Amino acid sequence: MNEAADNMRLHEVSEFEKITEVFGENVFNDTVMRQRLPKKVYKDLKKTMNEGKKLDSVTAEVVAYAMKEWAIEKGATHFSHWFQPLTGITAEKHDAFITHEDDEGRVMMEFSGKELVMGEPDASSFPSGGLRATFEARGYTAWDCTSPAFIKESSCGKILCIPTAFCSYTGEALDKKTPLLRSMQALSDQAIRIVRLFGNTEAKKVNPSVGPEQEYFLVDKDLYMKRPDLMFAGRTLFGAPAPKGQEMEDHYFGVIRERVGAFMKDLNYELWKLGVTAKTQHNEVAPAQHELAPIYETANIAVDHNQLVMETMKRVAIKHDMRCLLHEKPYAGVNGSGKHNNWSITTDNGINLLDPGDTPNENMQFLLVLSCIIKAIDIHADLLRQSAADVGNDHRLGADEAPPAIMSVFLGEQLDDVVTQLIETGEANKVKQGGKLKTGVRTIPDFIRDATDRNRTSPFAFTGNKFEFRSVGSADSIASPNTVLNAITAEAFCEAADELEKADDLMMAVHDMIKKNLSEHQRIIFNGDGYSEEWVKEAERRGLPNIKSMIEAAGALTTEKSVKLFERFKIFTRTELESREEIIYETYAKTINIEALTMIDMAGRQIIPAVITYSRELADTANSIKAAGGDASVHTEILKSVTEKLSAMQTALKELKEAEEKASHMEDARKQAYFYKDEIKTLMDNLRKPADDLEMIVDKRLWPIPTYGELMFEV
Ligand code: ADP
Ligand code: MG
Repeated sequence: MNEAADNMRLHEVSEFEKITEVFGENVFNDTVMRQRLPKKVYKDLKKTMNEGKKLDSVTAEVVAYAMKEWAIEKGATHFSHWFQPLTGITAEKHDAFITHEDDEGRVMMEFSGKELVMGEPDASSFPSGGLRATFEARGYTAWDCTSPAFIKESSCGKILCIPTAFCSYTGEALDKKTPLLRSMQALSDQAIRIVRLFGNTEAKKVNPSVGPEQEYFLVDKDLYMKRPDLMFAGRTLFGAPAPKGQEMEDHYFGVIRERVGAFMKDLNYELWKLGVTAKTQHNEVAPAQHELAPIYETANIAVDHNQLVMETMKRVAIKHDMRCLLHEKPYAGVNGSGKHNNWSITTDNGINLLDPGDTPNENMQFLLVLSCIIKAIDIHADLLRQSAADVGNDHRLGADEAPPAIMSVFLGEQLDDVVTQLIETGEANKVKQGGKLKTGVRTIPDFIRDATDRNRTSPFAFTGNKFEFRSVGSADSIASPNTVLNAITAEAFCEAADELEKADDLMMAVHDMIKKNLSEHQRIIFNGDGYSEEWVKEAERRGLPNIKSMIEAAGALTTEKSVKLFERFKIFTRTELESREEIIYETYAKTINIEALTMIDMAGRQIIPAVITYSRELADTANSIKAAGGDASVHTEILKSVTEKLSAMQTALKELKEAEEKASHMEDARKQAYFYKDEIKTLMDNLRKPADDLEMIVDKRLWPIPTYGELMFEV
C-alpha cells in the first residue's frame, strides 16, 4: 500500500493552536453562516433547519454561493455530496468547482443552489436489495441542511462535503440517513403531544440526543501488513492466545503509551477541526484497545460525526504507522469492541424527557415517558436486537461476550423499587434512599435520581438522564439503532397520547397509564447479571427473545408488527424493509465468504508450507540422530503430533474449499447466508483449531504470521 497516498496533512505537535481557535475551523457552522449570509437568507435557512420548511431555490442559490466562497478561501477545490449507503460506511464523489472559462479565458469556480440541494450520483453499485432495477439505476442525494457542511482534508486535497440523504428516483430510501431523519420527525411529532399534555406550549420540536462511545484497537502497521486476515477481514482468523491477555486488568484506564498518545492527540485535533466534540479518551479492557467519546448532540449530527470519527481514526492511524481496527472482535479470547449509544430526548426549549426533573409535573412526565419506553422495548425487543446486528457483532452478542443478545432494561435499584411498588400496589409510598422525586400524585413518592449503581451487563440501561444502548457494534453505523429507538418510542408516545388527550382527569389517567404500561411490560426489566446462565433461562421463562445471530435477527424487520410500525410513521415502506432484509443476507454471505477465502489462502500458502518445512527439519534431525545411534524419541513424538495436526488442517482445508464451491452456486440469499452460518463457519473453526495448536509447537522462526503477543503488545 502506498503510504504517501494515504498521508494527510496533520499539524506538527508544536503547531497546536488553542482548541477554541481550532474547533469547527473546517465547518460551515452557525457562526460562519451568520457572518456570511444576508440576514433574511440566514433566517430562512434556520427556519428550514428548525421547522423542516422547504428551502426555496433563491435561498439555496445564496447559501451555495456563500458556502463555495468560504470553502475556496479555505483552499477547497472540490465539493461532494456525502452520504451513507447501506454498506455502513460513507460514500462521496468529488466534483471540482471549476466550470467553463469566462470571456477572458479564466476558469470559473461555480457551485449552484441546485448542486447544493441535490445530486445524482450514478449509484448502481451500491446495495439496494432489489429496490432499483438496473435500467433505472440512478439515485439522488438530497441535502440534510440540519447537519453542517464541512471541509475534509486528505491527500485528495480539501473537499467541501455536504451531508445528504440518498434515495431512489421513486423516493425509496437507499441509505441509513433517510429513515433516521424520518424517525426523528415521527418521534418529534409524538413527543410534542406528550409534552403538551403537561402544559409545555413553547416546544415546537423534540430531538433525540446521542452520544456514542467508540471503542477501537490499534496495531503496528508492519505487523498488520503481514496478516492477510487483518487486511482483508479486519480480524484475525488464526492465532493462538498470547501468554498474557487482559487478566491482569492493567490496561483499562492505564497510562496511555507514547505512540498511542501521539495518535490520540492528532486524532482529537483533526476531529475538533471538523467540529466533532471529541471529549474523553482512555485505554480499554484489552491490550491495545482504546475508547473515544464525544459530547452528545442531535441524533443525525451524532451519526454523521460518528462516521467521521471512524474514518479519521483510520487515517490518523496510518499517519502514525499503525492501523486502526474497528472490527467487533479482532482477537479471539480478549474483549471485543462495541459502541455505547447514549440516547435521550430533549425539547427545543431544553427539557430532557429522560431527566426526572425537579417539579411534580416533570416527575410525572418522566415516569410516563419511562413507562412508554419500557413498553416500546418489550414490544419491539426483536427490532432493537436487529438494529445492533452486524457480522462482526455476532462474536459479541449472544456469543462469548457481553452484552447478551437478550434485550432487557436496567433501571437501577431505586427506580426499580418505585416501579415494583407501583406495579404491586398501584402506589409507591416509600423510597429506598429517601430522596426527592415529586410527582404530585399522592401515591407516588418523592425520590432522587441516582446514577450510583451501574450495571455493565445490561444491554439497555437507564443512567440518570439517558438510556445507554450497549449492544451496538464498534464498526457499525449508529443510524439503525437510533432509527429504531426513535420509531418504537414514537409509537408508544402516540398510543399514550391518543388515550390521554381524551381523559377527563388527566393526572389520574397518566397515573393509570404508568401503572398499566409497567405492569404489562415488567418482564423486560432486569437488574441482575446479564451474563449469567440463569438469566438465559429466566428470560426464556419470561418469553423474551434470545436472537443469537445477525441473520436470525434479520426477519424482525419484516414481521407484520414491524411493517405496521414503520409504515404508520412513514419511516420505511414494506418494500424498503424487504430490501433491507435481503441486503443483510447478502452482506452476511459476502463477509463470511471473504473470511473463508482468506483462511484458505493463509492455510494453503503460509501455514501448511511452514509446518511442512518444520516437519522436514524435525525428521532430518531425528534421522541423523538415529543414524548416529542416538535417542530421537522426543523428535519422533513431536513429529507425530505435528503430522496429526497437519493432517487435520489439510482435511479441514479440503472440506472448506468444497463447501465454498457449493456456496458459490446458491442463488437464494437467505439460504446462502444460513449455509455460511451453519456450515462454512464450522469448517472455518475446524481449520483454525489445529493451526492454532501448531502455532504453539512449530519453531517461531518458521511461523509465517505475527503472533497475538506481537500484535497486541507491540503498539
Ligand atoms: P459513562 O460513564 O457511560 O462514560 P458519560 O457521562 O461519560 O458516561 O457519557 C458517555 C456519553 O454519553 C458521552 O458521549 C456523553 O456526551 C453522552 N451523554 C451524556 N448525557 C447524555 C444525554 N442526556 N443524552 C445523550 N447522551 C448523553
Ligand atoms: Mg458508557
